[in-house]
Amino acid sequence: MPAMSKPLVVQKFGGSSVANADRIRRVAARIARERASGSDLVVVVSAMGDTTDELLALAGAITDDPDPRELDMLLATGEHQSATLLSMALHALGVPAIALTGAQAGITTDGNYGRARIAGIDPKRIQDEVAGGRVVIVAGFQGQSKTDPTLSEITTLGRGGSDTSGVALAAALDADRCQIFTDVRGIYTADPRLVPDARQLAVISYEEMMELAHQGAQVMQVRAVELGWVNNVVIEVLSSFEDVPGTLIKEDPFVEQRNKVRGLAHDRNVAKVTLVEVPDRPGVAHAVFAPLSEGGINVDTIVQNVGHHGTTDLSFTITRGDLAKTKRILEPI
Ligand code: ADP
Ligand code: ASP
Ligand code: MG
Repeated sequence: MPAMSKPLVVQKFGGSSVANADRIRRVAARIARERASGSDLVVVVSAMGDTTDELLALAGAITDDPDPRELDMLLATGEHQSATLLSMALHALGVPAIALTGAQAGITTDGNYGRARIAGIDPKRIQDEVAGGRVVIVAGFQGQSKTDPTLSEITTLGRGGSDTSGVALAAALDADRCQIFTDVRGIYTADPRLVPDARQLAVISYEEMMELAHQGAQVMQVRAVELGWVNNVVIEVLSSFEDVPGTLIKEDPFVEQRNKVRGLAHDRNVAKVTLVEVPDRPGVAHAVFAPLSEGGINVDTIVQNVGHHGTTDLSFTITRGDLAKTKRILEPI
């Protein structure tokens, strides 16, 4: 009779869960407990605390328009730090572990620096390491692009992208559980840091969670929820600080019948651009938005005022980080 294989658990720990050496040791202890209970583990980590913001600020102190390739290589180092340190913390507990970059973990993406999408995962290296008895720690938020097969470039998956690394790995490895550990107990009806009486939800559907995430609830990256939905990965969101039940993100057959407001989201990472005295004639909006779309800028809300004297004001919102690029694209127009 073949030996019973162990359940495979993918756990992702966010930035605040690995913010300093103490917390990294606590995460290591949690992983060691899960392993002792008989699971194989693949662990995805975000960069420590505010590292990604700090790296962005450093780049911004050098130039207000950093080269996207160099910026992705810089940002990816944040997750290299946390992954290697967590691996060392496990070694210190006597647990065999190995840290892998996104590329070493077999994650390939398209070539869109700063917002790359995962194109495929070759799980062989991870599977070999797990078969060798090691806990595999994968640096989240990154992969490699091989748009030119002879070149490998480091890419990042967009802010909050470690969630997507976690869910994508759970899908590729056909994991038994996918757990996203964070600094709140789960998904709430609103951001619990802003709305103290927000309620925690026991279950939320993929569709509802995608809507909340899309509207700005940063607790899960939109892509991660979408990947979970497409691949039918049940995602558990739970606290890395307290041992209490979290929230399950999964298919919910009752969504349509319930049809009530499930939560509120907000987004502060937004810039509003207003073009004044735009000629009020057909084709003008296309002249503005087509180059933005070609430049990979995501335009959200668009408002066009009632025209007067043959001109109109055109306002739209974008992600704050896209402001410099948007200005650069629109100035000649
Ligand atoms: P991590 O570093 O673990 O990825 P994030 O900061 O990305 O954590 O996401 C967790 C944060 O998301 C919480 O601290 C909370 O303030 C915020 N948040 C926003 N909306 C919600 C919501 N509806 N439910 C839970 N948390 C939310
Ligand atoms: N460290 C990255 C960020 O701050 C990825 C993540 O946290 O998921 O966006
Ligand atoms: Mg996050």
